[in-house]
Amino acid sequence: MRFEFQQARWDEPLLNEKSRKGRVGASIPPWDDVREVSTLLPEGMLREELNLPELSEPEVVRHYVRLSQMNFGTDSGIYPLGSCTMKYNPKINDRIASHSTLTRMHPLQPEDTIQGVLAMMYELQEALCEIGGMCACTLQPAAGAAGEFTGLLIARKYHGSRGDHRDEIIIPDSAHGTNPASAVMAGFKVIEIKSAPDGSVDLDALKGALSERTAAFMITNPSTLGIFEKNICEIQQACHDAGALLYYDGANLNALMGISRPGDMGFDIMHYNLHKTFSTPHGGGGPGAGPVAVTAELAKFLPVPVVVKEGNTYKLDHDRPDSIGKVKGFYGNVGVLIRAWAYIKTLGAEGLKRTSELAVLNASYIRSRIESVYPVPFNAPSKHEFVASADFLKENGGSAKDVAKMLAERGLHPPTNYFPLIVSEALMIEPTESETMEELDRFCDALLDIAKSDPEEWKKAPRTTTVSRVDDITAAKNLILNWNQLPRE
Ligand SMILES: *Cc1c(COP(=O)(O)O)cnc(C)c1O
Repeated sequence: MRFEFQQARWDEPLLNEKSRKGRVGASIPPWDDVREVSTLLPEGMLREELNLPELSEPEVVRHYVRLSQMNFGTDSGIYPLGSCTMKYNPKINDRIASHSTLTRMHPLQPEDTIQGVLAMMYELQEALCEIGGMCACTLQPAAGAAGEFTGLLIARKYHGSRGDHRDEIIIPDSAHGTNPASAVMAGFKVIEIKSAPDGSVDLDALKGALSERTAAFMITNPSTLGIFEKNICEIQQACHDAGALLYYDGANLNALMGISRPGDMGFDIMHYNLHKTFSTPHGGGGPGAGPVAVTAELAKFLPVPVVVKEGNTYKLDHDRPDSIGKVKGFYGNVGVLIRAWAYIKTLGAEGLKRTSELAVLNASYIRSRIESVYPVPFNAPSKHEFVASADFLKENGGSAKDVAKMLAERGLHPPTNYFPLIVSEALMIEPTESETMEELDRFCDALLDIAKSDPEEWKKAPRTTTVSRVDDITAAKNLILNWNQLPRE
């Protein structure tokens, strides 16, 4: 079998396996007094010799280049992981964030020596408030989930400050797993409500769940099905009538920038996933940022410090008596914040709006091309992503996972599988705005080709990648992190 785009396919040994005693990759002048340090330290504090790999510089460079060629990223092709917004990250953002005037800064430097970076952070706060229709913003949380946790601590403090002890968070069954996890971490009880048959929030179920114990209702809009909540006005009314706050999970903001604003829909607290919508390389646990913005009423509870502007001077405001306190070391992941600032500055308001329009158009295009083969269970127009089902493959023993593996075999990154949980054999597809028509077609053609392929072949995929099918259950249940313990052929 030959496919147009093939991944590099080879075995790359671990650095420890390539190591040869005495091989070095650096030329440091010899140091005669090596023993001196060890004589200065108490014996109990001396470490055993570290088992570090010993390699030459080209070996190290080649090792990582070879690994990178086995990898798949947004720089390799379409990466349509729904909910994750794996868009292309313009290189200029990296160039700006890695400028030496920024990378040489230290977080303990006096404020008057870091006015430039504080200005960027201030402008980013302002831009995010404008995009979200909010009043005040903190840039500190390190990711979406950290933003959720921060936002829910703000909700708790708000209710507490009114002597109102509310301990429940309502969450729809289509929610991302971080939503209930953050609620529990922030000390709340989670009340899950079922979605309506059309995939939207079931208003009656919501009204039934709301009570004087509800601290907040947490949703993302468009939902994880990519459907805009048509009842958002009634939803916000019902929540506010019950004294509850409305929390917006901003992971799906890529659908709405410059078109509609969570603040205008009545949300009180929201987070932004800068690494998703605002173009920071992410995945593999890489750094993110999850700023949180709130209404004027909640501004005093934001974590410290907040960047403020007094005259022409920027300051870090730590003097906020009602603040929930600190949620992250220093000022957050500043490198990510600068990338987002650069992204927003280069696109401008019109560019951001165009981004969302194209993200929705691209998703709608894929949907229209594949929908007759891969059914989309909820009959509502989708926004920047949609969830199709590979359930029809089941009768021949196939699954969404097989589709994913067959896409990988064809040199394409699969969509998100098995999320949201309410769609059987879910394929959650989010192409983002970055793709050309040709790339969208390549992806659609592959999906249609897979649906027609011989079921005998399905379980054999992927045959063109370095690693074929792994036993993922064993891999998850019996995690081996020590290379010495890896089973070898
Ligand atoms: C990604 C995502 C989150 C969590 O954000 P992280 O930045 O990964 O912590 C929450 N909700 C939805 C819908 C998401 O897609």
